[in-house]
Amino acid sequence: MQEKKIPYKIYLEESEMPDSWYNLRADMKNKPAPLINPGTGKPLTAEELSPIFCEELVAQELDDTTPFIKIPDEILSFYRMYRPSPLVRAYCLEKKLQTPAKIYYKFEGNNTSGSHKLNSAIAQAYYAQKQGLKGVTTETGAGQWGTALSMACSYFDLDLKVFMVKVSYEQKPFRREVMRTYGASVVPSPSETTEIGKKILAEHPGTTGSLGCAISEAVEVATKNPGYRYVLGSVLNQVLLHQSVIGLETKAALDKYGIKPDVIIGCAGGGSNLGGLIAPFMGEKLKGTADYRIVAVEPASCPSFTRGTFAYDFCDTGMICPLAKMYTLGSSFIPSANHAGGLRFHGMSTILSQLYHDGYMEAVSVEQTSVFEAAEQFARIEGILPAPESSHAIRVAIDEALKCKETGEEKTIVFGLTGTGYFDLVAYEQYNDGVMTDTIPTDEDIAASIAKLPKVE
Ligand SMILES: *Cc1c(COP(=O)(O)O)cnc(C)c1O
Repeated sequence: MQEKKIPYKIYLEESEMPDSWYNLRADMKNKPAPLINPGTGKPLTAEELSPIFCEELVAQELDDTTPFIKIPDEILSFYRMYRPSPLVRAYCLEKKLQTPAKIYYKFEGNNTSGSHKLNSAIAQAYYAQKQGLKGVTTETGAGQWGTALSMACSYFDLDLKVFMVKVSYEQKPFRREVMRTYGASVVPSPSETTEIGKKILAEHPGTTGSLGCAISEAVEVATKNPGYRYVLGSVLNQVLLHQSVIGLETKAALDKYGIKPDVIIGCAGGGSNLGGLIAPFMGEKLKGTADYRIVAVEPASCPSFTRGTFAYDFCDTGMICPLAKMYTLGSSFIPSANHAGGLRFHGMSTILSQLYHDGYMEAVSVEQTSVFEAAEQFARIEGILPAPESSHAIRVAIDEALKCKETGEEKTIVFGLTGTGYFDLVAYEQYNDGVMTDTIPTDEDIAASIAKLPKVE
């Protein structure tokens, strides 16, 4: 059979878009460990979760048996405004690197939020509106999640309060304005507006905040105000479920041309884009019908997989959220303030943690100066200004392609290009000025926060 010429961009027809999300947990023999109530030490029930999350999302969070969950029409019609997203063959980058490798990236930056986060934001806002809620609260780090959620909430007429990590609030005023334009109110975290915020400020005056603190504040406000629930943009099983559209579209596009990837690479903060991208491929791997190398890339300054411990831990610094069994650096771990590249969460999705623990995927950590070097190389040849987070995956994709150059192997590499970097120009400025540094936590730093892990039987 003659090989079809592969276009620069493989688009799917609307009719070829997935109409269900794929729940990878259904095909896992070792299921991810359940969330635990820190008060009782027992797995959280739907009843206990429902004051925090809306009902339908609680059901999705706990469902580890249903393989396909139908995407409601209201969500599908929103998806159609910006999806399917293109799968791009990086012909120009391949040529520049003079590699025999074939490189593809799935580009999720083609919407106003500039990232894949909209895929879950719209789902979570939909279920909140369907339940008749007044609004939702959340945290945001770099601001992509808050932006995505503000778009989703304005679409479904929901009130939104965003706790934004203080260092980002100050460094990224433009993100903040986008959120306010979509009608969200944005509070720098830690703040004096919550009990937990006041406590954290008293203990750590002058702190620049962390995602963990912001989560604690957002949960407090959601549970204290009737008609409000909390939503989270990463880590949770429901978020990985919604993000499976990335992987399903990628697989459908590759299948159209009979392409089978050898290596699939994604950056990992809380694990949502990676979990979504790899879902159908990992499903095949779990069933033994195909094999792929799957690589998670994380920052050397926040190395949950590569230097963390697989244990139950709090998802937030304030220690009020449920306990999740995951690779963690300890909920009191706060990455160095000079870390500019996102992916700052101390833990990792329980699904990915279990898969990593069982040997189904690899993880590497990379330093931010080398990440920005890859970002710049990519921007100059492929034309897209990548988000620093996404650039972690670019770094490792380029490294894999360069290895192929040495060995002459024609491997097919697929990576997730999760978003654009227009709001990350302070970080790019540091890199361009040559003042960006790498701060890698010492073993003592990590041991100190690991020592504070909660005791769980
Ligand atoms: C949030 C974000 C990430 C990291 O989050 P995951 O849940 O690990 O996917 C990566 N890239 C971009 C552009 C993001 O906004």
